[in-house]
Amino acid sequence: MMRSLAAKLTLAFLFVSVIGVALVAVFVSRRAQSEFDRFVLDRYQLDLLTDLAAYYEQNEGWDGFSGIVVRAPDRRPGRPPSSLPAPVVLTDAEGTVIYGGRRYQAGSQLAQDTLTGAVPVEVDGQRVGWVLFGEVGRTAPVSPQSPELRFLAGVNRAVLFGALGAMVVALLLGLLLARSISRPVSEVTAATRQMADGELGIQVPVRTQDELGQLADAFNRMSADLGRATAQRRQMTADIAHDLRNPLSVLLGYLEALSAGKLEADPDTLAVMYERGRQLQHLVDDLRILALADAGELALDRRPVSAQTLLEHAALAHMVQARQRGIALSVRDADGESLPPIHVDPQRLAQVLSNLVANALRFTPADGRIELAARREDDLILLQVSDSGAGIDPDDLPHIFERFYRGDKARPADGQSGLGLAIAKGIVAAHGGHMRAVSTLGQGTTITAAIPIDRERPKTSGSHG
Ligand code: ADP
Repeated sequence: MMRSLAAKLTLAFLFVSVIGVALVAVFVSRRAQSEFDRFVLDRYQLDLLTDLAAYYEQNEGWDGFSGIVVRAPDRRPGRPPSSLPAPVVLTDAEGTVIYGGRRYQAGSQLAQDTLTGAVPVEVDGQRVGWVLFGEVGRTAPVSPQSPELRFLAGVNRAVLFGALGAMVVALLLGLLLARSISRPVSEVTAATRQMADGELGIQVPVRTQDELGQLADAFNRMSADLGRATAQRRQMTADIAHDLRNPLSVLLGYLEALSAGKLEADPDTLAVMYERGRQLQHLVDDLRILALADAGELALDRRPVSAQTLLEHAALAHMVQARQRGIALSVRDADGESLPPIHVDPQRLAQVLSNLVANALRFTPADGRIELAARREDDLILLQVSDSGAGIDPDDLPHIFERFYRGDKARPADGQSGLGLAIAKGIVAAHGGHMRAVSTLGQGTTITAAIPIDRERPKTSGSHG
């Protein structure tokens, strides 16, 4: 069985070339044969006419013509006289048969239409007779040693050599082409196998711009994405384990001390334990929301709400904290322009804004400002939280919406999971929107949640059920 693509392609090329060459050979040799027949016949006829004219001139008429033609000596010295072949008929200028061969009696008169197709014999421009050749072409005498046959054999040999050459070239070209096609394919195949065996992120060389090059390119992108996703998943599992471990070990330490009687169950102790328990619950809740958002199963209790109201509620929830830290937290007025309501789940959106404001509070020093604003941009309502805080490093900026990504690596134990922006992004995406971040180090950050204005939704009043 033929398993290799290269072998199949090579054979295909060879097959096509053999067929092509065979067709050419057949047509060439047929054509050469019939051209030759015609050429030989023409020459024979011409010779005959010349010889007949010479006879007429010498004998000053057709008298005594018995069918024997003497070769005109000036043209073909040494050739013996020959008799007219049987199908040939010679008449005089008036159509009276002089030599009838097998067909006519000498002396009989041929009708005008019998003479159509006859060739005139001329002497000094005077028509002196007619020759009817009949089927003579088929019986034109050609001997095996004749130059005609040798020529034909030569043509056939040339065609044969040409065919062999063409086949060798086709074979070489086919091998070359087949190899150039099959090589990238087998490279991708090998890489796919390696990938199946768990080696992720493998790249294959992109050699051409054609479909095969595109295949290699697409494979490379897929491989890289898969490698990245797998690395992210591993990292995430490690992060989750780490984040669960911390509060759990504190809780367990307290419980051991309590049960060993080394610690009193006083309100302070219980408060610490409660706080760690709450932290754990918070993390598990966050993970659950992320998992639901990932699966596209985040249940949304959508209703029309005003963006301005959402911002005011979020500001109110963090007002006390902001005042304690000496930060001016405000909501920008709607500037008189009235924004259309957005159809969202107010509680989920409140969580998004709460995460953004909490971040802004953490990264903004005392005397800083945090401003919440709603704007319209085409078919989107933008909910923006701007702060005058530390800003985000440009290296970190593309990653802040990833899970467990913490820009400030020096502070891993501040109780923040690194999930806040990932959750915000998941919730906003579930609403059909997206998140953006603009930041300048040392000057501040603006995080934007862009929510589409839902035009499909009709006004609910007046609908009939
Ligand atoms: P975290 O739990 O660390 O806050 P987030 O997903 O909320 O996780 O944020 C990811 C990272 O983005 C933060 O660790 C921080 O480095 C950066 N970041 C987010 N918001 C701001 C902000 N307003 N100012 C500066 N940095 C921010």
